[in-house]
Amino acid sequence: MSTPTPRAPMLSTAEALATLLSAASPITGTESIPTLDALNRVLSADVISPLDVPPMNTSSMDGYAIHADDLATNGNRRLPVSQRIPAGHAPEPLKPGTAARIFTGATVPRGADAIVMQEQTEAAGNEVTILHSPAPGEWITAQGADIRSGSVILPAGTRLTPQALGLAASVGCAELQVRRRVKVAVFFTGDELTMPGEPLKPGAIYNSNRFTLRGLLEKLGCDVTDYGIVPDKLDATRATLREAAQAHDLILTCGGVSVGEEDHVKPAVEAEGRLSMWQIAMKPGKPLAFGAVRRAAQQTDAAPSAETFFIGLPGNPVSSFATFLLFVRPFVLLLAGMRTVAPRALSLRADFTQKKADRRNEFLRARINAAGGLDLFPNQSSAVLTSTVWGDGLIDNPPNHAISVGETVRFIPFSELLN
Ligand code: AMP
Ligand code: MG
Repeated sequence: MSTPTPRAPMLSTAEALATLLSAASPITGTESIPTLDALNRVLSADVISPLDVPPMNTSSMDGYAIHADDLATNGNRRLPVSQRIPAGHAPEPLKPGTAARIFTGATVPRGADAIVMQEQTEAAGNEVTILHSPAPGEWITAQGADIRSGSVILPAGTRLTPQALGLAASVGCAELQVRRRVKVAVFFTGDELTMPGEPLKPGAIYNSNRFTLRGLLEKLGCDVTDYGIVPDKLDATRATLREAAQAHDLILTCGGVSVGEEDHVKPAVEAEGRLSMWQIAMKPGKPLAFGAVRRAAQQTDAAPSAETFFIGLPGNPVSSFATFLLFVRPFVLLLAGMRTVAPRALSLRADFTQKKADRRNEFLRARINAAGGLDLFPNQSSAVLTSTVWGDGLIDNPPNHAISVGETVRFIPFSELLN
């Protein structure tokens, strides 16, 4: 007689996240790619500026470059104009006692220490009368005011936004050192699953999670291999795991991780590697499987370790969405080489009441209303995918906590969780 498997202990969201993230370290493998193609990639090395920006003292006004003391020493506000300096031209040093006509972005000549804007001057012939006494440095952007040569402008671990690409380009970087993309294999199990475009037989449902999860992985910049629906048979599941383990960093599945589920994912991963089944005190969510699948002999640069990580998500559409955002997202971003992966939360006012406290940590779908408070989606069932499209994010409601109207709650916007 076999003894029943003991029920896994309940973990808090924080405990489960800490355990999961402690297993993740950045993948090896970097490449140098054109800055123009580097959007959303993660830097594997610091970007150090080889120059000062701006590279010289520049005028930030159309006007006249002068030596401020010249006005005081000879009491004469009428100066001969000794040169004309458009942007992009190297000036001569300023002749003492003269002014130089200068334009926005042009190099301030040696010997000048202030710009007087043209509105505060009167030009007549080859002379200009200065109607204002400038402080030294006025309307001059000093060399290196934005960036100093030798400084780190983008540290390793930065994900490249459009602004970051612009900054790298501003110091002349044509190529950037980035980590290769994280390779993720994904597959789905469940005899009820049907692809859109196929007729829906009695008892069947559409495989919506395939679309959600693939989209989420692609938004994170992963290189995704989608094995689609794998027949619910032990041999087929093991064969898919073995194949996927070869050239991927992570295998992600969805469905069949509930306690007592008759499913082949759990025994297949146990046979091909190792698996821990977690019960997390969260809603939606709860079951999550974490482990690894052994890799066959040869290890390449793209697959240098002996194992590929495995994460099994619950099948309910909102549960798989939420557990992806809260667990898979930071795990993948750590593999990708990012340093900060925790989403920033907002403190917002609840414009609703939720009388019933749940013993689990709830992640409630809510949206920001016109008054800046939060409205709650009326149906918080983990099967109601509508809530994820209606909402702007998740309220992180601690266990055993009812929400009263007007109370400040912790809100994690989807904008923080979807990239
Ligand atoms: P499971 O985690 O396999 O027990 O599934 C829980 C619920 O999620 C069941 O109602 C499944 O039909 C549903 N489900 C599982 N996989 C998917 C999927 N890929 N797309 C949509 N619903 C799914
Ligand atoms: Mg299932």
